[in-house]
Amino acid sequence: MNIACFDIGGTFIKYSVINEKGEILLKDKFSTPKENCRIEIPKALVERIKDISNYFKIDAAGISTAGQVDSDKGEIVFATENLPGYTGAKISEHLRNELNLPSYVENDVNAAAVGEMWMGAAKGKNNFACITLGTGIGGAIVIDGKLYKGINGGAGEFGHMSINEHGENCTCGFQGCFERYSSTSALIRRYKAEAEKAGSADENATGESIMKLVREGNNTAVKVYKDFLAHLATGIANVVHILDPGLIVIGGGISAQGQSFINELEEVFKTKAMKAYADNTEIVTAQLQNDAGVYGACYLALKNMIE
Ligand SMILES: [Zn+2]
Repeated sequence: MNIACFDIGGTFIKYSVINEKGEILLKDKFSTPKENCRIEIPKALVERIKDISNYFKIDAAGISTAGQVDSDKGEIVFATENLPGYTGAKISEHLRNELNLPSYVENDVNAAAVGEMWMGAAKGKNNFACITLGTGIGGAIVIDGKLYKGINGGAGEFGHMSINEHGENCTCGFQGCFERYSSTSALIRRYKAEAEKAGSADENATGESIMKLVREGNNTAVKVYKDFLAHLATGIANVVHILDPGLIVIGGGISAQGQSFINELEEVFKTKAMKAYADNTEIVTAQLQNDAGVYGACYLALKNMIE
């Protein structure tokens, strides 16, 4: 069985053909439409599937996408202006009408978690939580091998868990949210502010360049990184005390820092979580990077067809 898998982001739509064994048969990407995404994105998917079908027999489509998703209907409930006019897109209906093709649509953070369970860092695990560090912090919860999505599909919004009720204002309208302190953007923002204070302004700093400075022993970078780790460990401890998932998968660019980052994080985490939880929690980095979304979309589409 072959699944046409898409991962829809603000800049690119990545796509793959993946079979039921998890083998990637084709992989490419194209630019995301810049306007009227509600119409243009479903149309672009149909065009691409028609093209792919010249080379592969396609049995279903799996779609991982930015935005809030109604997976039962295969529709976009809400998307930010990162994808202009995307809210309300009826993806599954369009694929069914135009191609008579079954499809499954899932939010990108959830899809990536499922991808990691099928082929990556959470392989063989039925219970875990994913925490993805980027501009904000995304989260996904897997319980007994299934995504836990909450009553309205909003579960796992770890980024807006407050770790300081009198803390920084957040875009969500509340204060002290986890993502104000532990996202990649937060790391960069705080480093830039501290570097300026120290008289060594570094306007072009990136997550990667800051981590390089940390490894070189730069005082400002080390100080900001230590604070970042403390906040990150606090957030993880909260998640672990609530879910006791046994496994935390950290995704996003920071996962490229590998085992040294995990060792440093674990050391701080052990000082913030109760021993019984800390002793039974493994923290790992995500493994699939750019392929997590398409793998997850594939797995969900296959599962949906079987059911
Ligand atoms: Zn918030």
